[in-house]
Amino acid sequence: MTDVPFSCSCGEIKGTLHHVTPRNGNHVRCYCAACRAAVLYTTGEDVGTNGVDLYQTTPDRISFQQGRSNLGVFSFSPKKLLRFRAMCCGVQMFTMLPTPKFALAGVMTNLLEDKTAIGPVAMEAFVPQPDGSTKHSSTLRLYGGTMWRALVARISGRWKQTSFFDITTGKPVAEVYLLPKEERANLPL
Ligand SMILES: [Zn+2]
Ligand SMILES: [Zn+2]
Repeated sequence: MTDVPFSCSCGEIKGTLHHVTPRNGNHVRCYCAACRAAVLYTTGEDVGTNGVDLYQTTPDRISFQQGRSNLGVFSFSPKKLLRFRAMCCGVQMFTMLPTPKFALAGVMTNLLEDKTAIGPVAMEAFVPQPDGSTKHSSTLRLYGGTMWRALVARISGRWKQTSFFDITTGKPVAEVYLLPKEERANLPL
């Protein structure tokens, strides 16, 4: 097991991803419209049909050494994923479900110092199909592994070890910026 340092683009936020192995998390390439839109919104760069790489783990595996107060949160709609970004340089860093009780964290892998510990992309999500629909390369791996890790974190109480929520109120550490329709209209959502 390895600990892997991460940082935002400008280096104000620094932290560590703990106990990383290819099996301890899920290295995913996601082709969904929201992930593409989030990168475009935060960086101005359009990944197009290339997908966005993230490593799914649980929030207790993520610690901060500095700059956590620079985290901001946005979301595309009230019940959708929360997307944590660095307010210093703007880059998106993590995705979380809107409740800390379901322990799921997606870490943007481009922010990791060394990607060898997470292994190669193990599955692809929302892959566009010729008929216009989308498909996961392994639904079992995407949902099964995620559900299982979240369940273990819930039962063991590890879900409470989160740097992203106040667990007494269930609210994220920064106020969620819900993108207004006009802003969403400029994104490929
Ligand atoms: Zn996605
Ligand atoms: Zn930064």
